Amino acid sequence: MPNANLVLFIGEALVYVAAMIGLLHLRARLGLGVFVAALGVMHFIETYLAAVFYVQLPFGVISPGSAVLFSGKLMMILLLYVKEDAATVRQPIYGLLAGNFLTVALALLLRRHDTVDIVPGRTADIAFIDEMGWLMVWGTTLLYFDSLIIILLYEKLGRWFRRFVTVRFLICGVTVLTFDQVGFYAALHWVNDAPADVFWGGWLAKMLAAPFFAVAIGFYLNASRHPFLAISNRPLGDIFNDLTFRERYEDLLSRSGQDTLTGALDRGRFELEGHQMMREAAAANAPVSLMIIDVDHFKDVNDRFGHLEGDRVLQKLVETVKEKLRPDDRVFRYGGEEFVLLCPGIAHAEAYARAEDIRLAVSGRVTTPDGGPVTASIGLSSTLADGTGIHELLSQADIRLYAAKGSGRNCVVGR
Ligand code: GH3
Ligand code: MG
Ligand code: MG
Repeated sequence: MPNANLVLFIGEALVYVAAMIGLLHLRARLGLGVFVAALGVMHFIETYLAAVFYVQLPFGVISPGSAVLFSGKLMMILLLYVKEDAATVRQPIYGLLAGNFLTVALALLLRRHDTVDIVPGRTADIAFIDEMGWLMVWGTTLLYFDSLIIILLYEKLGRWFRRFVTVRFLICGVTVLTFDQVGFYAALHWVNDAPADVFWGGWLAKMLAAPFFAVAIGFYLNASRHPFLAISNRPLGDIFNDLTFRERYEDLLSRSGQDTLTGALDRGRFELEGHQMMREAAAANAPVSLMIIDVDHFKDVNDRFGHLEGDRVLQKLVETVKEKLRPDDRVFRYGGEEFVLLCPGIAHAEAYARAEDIRLAVSGRVTTPDGGPVTASIGLSSTLADGTGIHELLSQADIRLYAAKGSGRNCVVGR
């Protein structure tokens, strides 16, 4: 009987590894979603097996039925990383976390149903769903850390084992599966009163599964001539940031909100920062001035010299305006060739002088390819006379910009 169980385990591992590697290998044709969904869908049965399904292995070892599936999943996550990158690997991990929390949340609603026992001998077992739900949440939380550790460890090992990918997978598997066994057993013990034998049995089974999967994956990577870098040349910190979405967040803070052509802030940022600046100014009892700068006859620049030269003119314009900014000023690209300048702390008269200064700088420095000057018209508004809200300032400045266009362009209108 114990031997039959071992043979069955090996059979399950073979089926699992063949199917999952197959799906991963075909990802270019099937889409990565197939592999990822297959990986995720096995989570429920894995948890079920871990909670109640134990089998006898040789030498008196009692193992949970989940050992093969769980070890396989972790190795597959590492393989996905090797084949793709950290930004891809984090998707199934975060998806599993989200799905399991959702399971637990829905179970809270499900228990409120009045269910009907229409199939004889079958009753809804909400307590069981609860137990599964929490075990899955815990399992996935562990999986989150497992995945971080296994990938970082894999990279670290690259220093010593370079191309020995099987050895790297083996060490990673053994280390992280041990860590995971400690964490998961703690929960089983707490929830189910699982005895210590469950810990050792599960650990031994995982220690057998790790070399099996490491060899299978090593075989696959060599057979598929995977052009793996012996060592990824990225710093570990970068990989960690990728895995945890931190890079996304930092990117958002630094780069997003900027117009890629001119480097001015974009319109979305205007909405955010405009309101904030008005609030802060009101609290400090300080004025704010706003300018709309619109290039004169810009359509002609495009028509005569082409769009690319038009783009270059816009870049030069923003460069010129930026040279005139104080640290607290903000320049936004509000429309195609319309820019909004927000100047906190200066009132109307001073702002008018600065607008003139900017206008002169533009006409003096921004040129078309034939050396002809490019000019701009500016509409100016300031608190409190023109309003206290950002949109009031904007619409007043817009009216004055049209007045500036009407009175011959290349001028500032402020009243
Ligand atoms: P006015 O003096 O009355 O402002 O004349 P104008 O030609 O500047 O007027 P209008 O606002 O109608 O024209 C703006 C032009 O800016 C039209 C559009 O093709 C061009 N434009 C908008 N965005 C871009 C851009 O990113 N690059 C380039 N090259 N042109 C742009
Ligand atoms: Mg224009
Ligand atoms: Mg315009």
